[in-house]
Amino acid sequence: MSLAATAQQSAAVEARDAEMAARVRATVRDDVRAMHAYAVPRADGLIKLDAMENPYPLPAEVRARLAAAVAGVAINRYPDAAAEATKHALRDAFALGDGFDIVLGNGSDELISMLTAMVAREGATVLAPDPSFVMYAISARLANIRYVGVPLGHDFALDTDAMLSAIARERPALIWLAFPNNPTGNLFDVAAIEAIVDAAPGLVVIDEAYYAFANRSFILRAREFSNVIVVRTVSKIGMAGLRLGYAVGDPVWMHELEKLRPPYNINALTQAVAPLLLAEEALLTEQARAICAERERVAAALAATPGVVLWPTHTNFVLVRVVDAAAMFEQLRHAGILVKNLAGSHPSLANCLRITIGTPDENDALLRAIGAQP
Ligand code: PMP
Repeated sequence: MSLAATAQQSAAVEARDAEMAARVRATVRDDVRAMHAYAVPRADGLIKLDAMENPYPLPAEVRARLAAAVAGVAINRYPDAAAEATKHALRDAFALGDGFDIVLGNGSDELISMLTAMVAREGATVLAPDPSFVMYAISARLANIRYVGVPLGHDFALDTDAMLSAIARERPALIWLAFPNNPTGNLFDVAAIEAIVDAAPGLVVIDEAYYAFANRSFILRAREFSNVIVVRTVSKIGMAGLRLGYAVGDPVWMHELEKLRPPYNINALTQAVAPLLLAEEALLTEQARAICAERERVAAALAATPGVVLWPTHTNFVLVRVVDAAAMFEQLRHAGILVKNLAGSHPSLANCLRITIGTPDENDALLRAIGAQP
């Protein structure tokens, strides 16, 4: 190609780029353009203790049954839109009576967007304790409604007075309570939750993503109140790859929520696999027990380590404060371990790291790298 032709071509590319940039500016919401996409760091070759996954692979016999089930899936067809087998499996696994209905999401992340969209009339407000799961605020922002975070109190406990006065002031359409809370790991006081539910003018969603590692749940109490939905996920009990979340509540609420659900949002492979795994009660219980036992061991070792402050946890992760979170994050990464650095995400999380509980070997590696006695 001649020099003149090359110059002409690059001028055309530049003009097209400028035209497209102008069109994006004119078309995409300003706040969306100012956002960052949710960043998930690469974990190749690292011990992955950053995302609260279950560290245990499935036994070969269970994998073989899953493989056979997947082999039989008609990939050319849409999945069962109602995902009946998956819902039945959830009902059986959690002994949900007929009074409850279930709405499924592609992960509970999708349910969080759907619930937010459901209440997102003009002027609506969403409220949550702060810090809590980041998707509550992000979903509100994307739905163009107001998000109000109410600071947690000492040791990340619910500040009941602050919550009640924020409820009176803001009249929120939706209140999120993560029970246990992410990223702090604690269970909020049940009486405080009841007072919030009682005072709430709209809906309260109790997000029990970590129920398997806690000894309390609201799921069977959801219908005791006229304004409570419980949301859960299978992500933390060994099925993060399936992307399956479920909302449980009174049929009257679920009837409305179902309207927000994209058709076929639960794919055919998930629908084939989830019922088989949910029926593995002994396996799921044993894995959760092992994770809780390791959590206690890791927590005790960290608590005895100079320079490490640790909060009580009812989840499959521990929240720690170290002297310098950025330096410790790098130190762990050099040792081949990926954790979550929360420093900078919230003022009360300065120098905090969130560390998922792994297998005993992974936890030993973590403890050695952090300078604790395994
Ligand atoms: N809720 C809470 C409190 C969480 O911590 C998470 C995941 N980190 C989710 C919901 C979303 O889980 P998923 O989309 O995997 O179901």
